[in-house]
Amino acid sequence: MAKGREAEDGGEDRAEGGAVDAAELRGRVRELLAAHPPGAVSPEEFLRARFDAGLAWVHFPRGLGGLGAPRSLQPVVDAELAAADAPDNDPRRIGIGLGMAAPTILRYGTEEQKQRFLRPLWTGEEPWCQLFSEPGAGSDLAGLRTRAVREPGGDWIVDGQKVWTSSAHTARWAILIARTDPDVPKHQGITYFVCDMTDPGVEVRPLRQLTGEAEFNEVFLTGVRIPDAHRLGAIGDGWRVAQATLMNERVAIGGRVLPREAGMVAAAAATWRERPELRTPELHDRLLSAWIDAEVARLSAERVRQQLAVGSPGPEGAGLKLAFARLNQRISGLEVELLGEDGLRYGDWTMVRPRSVDFYGRDAGYRYLRAKGNSIEGGTSEILRNIIAERVLELPAEPRTDKDAAWKDLPR
Ligand SMILES: Cc1cc2nc3c(=O)[nH]c(=O)nc-3n(C[C@H](O)[C@H](O)[C@H](O)COP(=O)(O)OP(=O)(O)OC[C@H]3O[C@@H](n4cnc5c(N)ncnc54)[C@H](O)[C@@H]3O)c2cc1C
Repeated sequence: MAKGREAEDGGEDRAEGGAVDAAELRGRVRELLAAHPPGAVSPEEFLRARFDAGLAWVHFPRGLGGLGAPRSLQPVVDAELAAADAPDNDPRRIGIGLGMAAPTILRYGTEEQKQRFLRPLWTGEEPWCQLFSEPGAGSDLAGLRTRAVREPGGDWIVDGQKVWTSSAHTARWAILIARTDPDVPKHQGITYFVCDMTDPGVEVRPLRQLTGEAEFNEVFLTGVRIPDAHRLGAIGDGWRVAQATLMNERVAIGGRVLPREAGMVAAAAATWRERPELRTPELHDRLLSAWIDAEVARLSAERVRQQLAVGSPGPEGAGLKLAFARLNQRISGLEVELLGEDGLRYGDWTMVRPRSVDFYGRDAGYRYLRAKGNSIEGGTSEILRNIIAERVLELPAEPRTDKDAAWKDLPR
């Protein structure tokens, strides 16, 4: 899989490296393989060397795992390294870091933050999670209550509760938003931090979900100490910084570019091909219609990817993510139906805390249940429709009575 392409943003820094073409990248890959033969060094050592050679995400700036090359050249590097059987990182395990933390750090981080965080993020040595949602703040994220109070001239002390935190149990770092000024309107009093998940004040408790496993957690923050050097962006500007994360999140969830007939539709099509006895003309029609819609979504994602080469993702990502959720639910439902009684069998309902989410390593029942979350995670489908209405179609905004009142005065 094309690991560098998992990370968004970075387009603005492209010019820095001048013209890097495919031939140069192939040459650099050969040099990397000669200096660090994959069989002779550990996977971690190889990945660190790949990052240092600028071959991690080629569109990132030089010195930060890239070469300022066009994003579209990443597949050249990935293909050469795959052909050499070189070790790779695992985007399913570190997707939050690659897809959300990295582009936010690149855009808003200080030079020290970029140098400190990006390399172990990309190699997978330091996984990340996202401490945004709270029991009373999901769709209305700006209403969040977790407080960060600064000691005079020093560290921030954070208290509060987060929920639905995917991979908090494996994360070394978290992107966190907290309220730093309750006296101003809710969007203005938020600041964005990097939180150390090993701080003694961080408590992670598993939340078992519909599928039986606990991908996500509730996270209690009690007196968590965050140095001011781990603030991302200006004090009170956290909402703007968070928008960069959320836009990238939607593209990371819904905008993955896959080969034709990959993803959810691949599983349903494989069942169709392997089990002719299950076929009916009606199911055939529905599968074909879903196949075409999946192809349209795939090509749309490709187009958004190409637009990303010249900037950061905008509200268009909402459309991709909406279509992805709808398709995944429709196709996984069709697969279960296609399988008849077999579709009702559920492989394994053991409570585990997985290190990654794998839609395709398990049975149709798992895909069907897990896809339910697709229309909630990364912004619900209703909220995405609101974003498309207001920011893409420019329809009148929903009335918002709480926009100008101080957060502390809002009714709860
Ligand atoms: C699998 C999964 C993984 C997740 N991982 C993370 C994570 O790692 N980190 C993290 O911070 N969060 C995570 N989340 C949380 C997710 O972002 C929230 O669940 C989501 O934003 C919705 O918030 P909520 O659950 O509080 O629902 P609510 O906001 O309470 O919404 C309830 C219902 O009301 C509807 N609704 C709310 N407001 C409006 C409106 N203005 N107009 C129309 N309808 C509206 C919603 O669409 C929804 O149907 C995850 C969620 C899932 C399912």
